[in-house]
Amino acid sequence: MSLIIAIDIGGTHIRTAAYPPGSIKPLAHHKTRSLAQTPGVFDRLLKAIEAVWQEGKVSALGIASPGPLDPHSGIILDTPNIPEWANFPVAPKLSERFGVPVYLDNDANLAGLAEWQYGAGRGHSDMVYLTISTGVGGGVISNNHLIQGYRGMGAELGHMMIDPNGPLCGCGHPGHIESFSSGPAIARYVNERIQAGDKTTLQADPNLTPAQIADAALKGDRLAISAYARAGEYLGMAVANYLAIFDPSILIFGGGVSQAGDLLFKPFEESLRRHVFHPHYLDNLTITRAALGDDAGLLGALALARLSLAEKEKVSAGQDV
Ligand SMILES: [Zn+2]
Repeated sequence: MSLIIAIDIGGTHIRTAAYPPGSIKPLAHHKTRSLAQTPGVFDRLLKAIEAVWQEGKVSALGIASPGPLDPHSGIILDTPNIPEWANFPVAPKLSERFGVPVYLDNDANLAGLAEWQYGAGRGHSDMVYLTISTGVGGGVISNNHLIQGYRGMGAELGHMMIDPNGPLCGCGHPGHIESFSSGPAIARYVNERIQAGDKTTLQADPNLTPAQIADAALKGDRLAISAYARAGEYLGMAVANYLAIFDPSILIFGGGVSQAGDLLFKPFEESLRRHVFHPHYLDNLTITRAALGDDAGLLGALALARLSLAEKEKVSAGQDV
């Protein structure tokens, strides 16, 4: 048997799972706290892998990690979630330790890859996946390939600039779509409007959650409704740009903010129709929600390892890939 071990490194948990060929049901699964701000993350990662390891049966490891990172060299460049991993060669280190190939990419790209292989995007050759939660992340399939880019930093869809005079993004630049439509961006807008004197049932609180704002909106709170409408409006502009670049047949939305449903997506679709370069982009365009939930990172890491191994076999057999 040749197993793939998939690894999902998150700010809160490290998850590992061992998958048999052709299956997305793991034989073994392990979850441990990553304690990402505390030294020793790599040791905890090793233990989590050993917990599902089967000697002599593993053919590759796949890892989903927060970026920015370089999937070609397997190096985590710098991730605010894990301070001790600046320029950290996680894939080479694991490959040396376990003696198998190790494939790495960022969590948003791999959630997109998972949706394409096993979830809502199956059968589509061209797909744009967006996850909207504390940030906005993206993964793009173009002509049946995951876009990684020359440096491995392609498809950073959350950092598309929509308004150079817009609010500051978490990355430090102004006006990126993440600074309008992420959960914290929606909460920031609500707080600003409360300070400016808008009437609302919500209390000013920097930790307001998207769910609290959605609850208020569903009870008719006008500020809460307008906060989602604004997020949807800007999201429509961003997606109009993605359509012009990638021309996908399906858009898939994941992440907690997407749970707001029509509060976000009605204004989004209306904005998209107004901003899209040509209406033909919308013909037969499927707009849907992600299917895989919390397992998207693990399944993306699994898909990355399987596809990379298959490509390697084709290369060693002398075929074009
Ligand atoms: Zn940004």
